[in-house]
Amino acid sequence: MSQMQEYINEAEAALLHTYNRYQVVFDHGEGVHLYDIEGKSYLDFVSGIGVFALGYGNKEYNDAVKAQVDKILHTSNYYYNVPAIEAAKAVKKISGMDRIFFTNSGAEAIEGAIKAARKYGYLKDGRTDHEIIAMEHSFHGRTMGALSITGKRAYRDPFEPMIGNIRFAEYNDIDSVKALVNDKTCAIIMETVQGEGGIYPAQETFLKEVRAICDEKDILLILDEIQCGMGRTGEYYAWQRFGVKPDILTTAKALGGGVPVGAFLMTEKVAQNSLVAGDHGTTYGGNPLAGAAIVEVMRQFEEKKVLENVRRVGAYLYEKLDEIAASHADVVEHRGVGLMQGLEFEHPVAEIINKALDKGLVLINAGTNIIRFLPPLVITEADVDAMLQILKECL
Ligand SMILES: *Cc1c(COP(=O)(O)O)cnc(C)c1O
Repeated sequence: MSQMQEYINEAEAALLHTYNRYQVVFDHGEGVHLYDIEGKSYLDFVSGIGVFALGYGNKEYNDAVKAQVDKILHTSNYYYNVPAIEAAKAVKKISGMDRIFFTNSGAEAIEGAIKAARKYGYLKDGRTDHEIIAMEHSFHGRTMGALSITGKRAYRDPFEPMIGNIRFAEYNDIDSVKALVNDKTCAIIMETVQGEGGIYPAQETFLKEVRAICDEKDILLILDEIQCGMGRTGEYYAWQRFGVKPDILTTAKALGGGVPVGAFLMTEKVAQNSLVAGDHGTTYGGNPLAGAAIVEVMRQFEEKKVLENVRRVGAYLYEKLDEIAASHADVVEHRGVGLMQGLEFEHPVAEIINKALDKGLVLINAGTNIIRFLPPLVITEADVDAMLQILKECL
């Protein structure tokens, strides 16, 4: 039995089986390539689900994180620390939001956003039966609050009861939103580009109309940019393409460049009318290690002109995947923006993804029939060409 197979067997004997994992044990990475424990190289078009935006083996990032490890890892949120302060200023600057709360994951950012929205509603009218409108086919995470607003019944049903008073509208269908709005509605939450649900970008008109409803009725718009944020679409946050600013923003995945971090941000108006001391907390969130990682990620985004790269290479990938869609009858649709794209097929894509892995290309699905392209944000046109060559062999 190969060493790799032995590890896989050990994993399957010890880990809770909550993932059907691909049959590979990765060991290290360099640039946009991963290497398994046998030294085989793989071109990476997943970036650990949008986390490793700056690529692997990034010396300056590693050095920044190591330097912070040697200095101090954790102090507690009862005290101030400089990396978190610097990180807060940096994320405020790129997002245009006013205040930030750091978490350790995306789901925790969603939990905080839900609490802030409910508190805002509570302070406004004293009701304790507020409703939140979420979207069908959305994905917001696996904790109970995040699961409750996730628009996929199969994920929710075994874990009922969910948190109460969640209503689901159809994404990109303004009438279905209007039908649910009432005087109990405190927030509308959606991904600006739906990720796990199948790579569906919000239409500009839809976002603008939802924003208008929220303004008119003093309802909070929460945009979940945990996957589509941090440069993925060619702007720091996808809503910046349309100028539709949320009241609360959630961000994570690429934010820490590999160190587990997340955050929810809000406007000053929400901050002044929602969570106060004693309402919310976290032991680890915003610790010096997370802060140092975020600061270095931000620095490299500027230095490497990552947004420009995403726009240019994203447009190139779009053109090339369009060609594939046109020349393969089993492709139903090509969607996406920047370096967040999807090819929907008439049939499940697991076989294509397994074949690609075998040939040294890492891809992932979004739903059974959609191949999702979520490469590191530093890929080049040559990497896209290399990916396409393997993909074509697999189709
Ligand atoms: C990944 C994801 C989450 C959950 O983040 P975790 O860090 O896995 O908890 C929430 N929302 C969106 C849009 C995501 O893609």
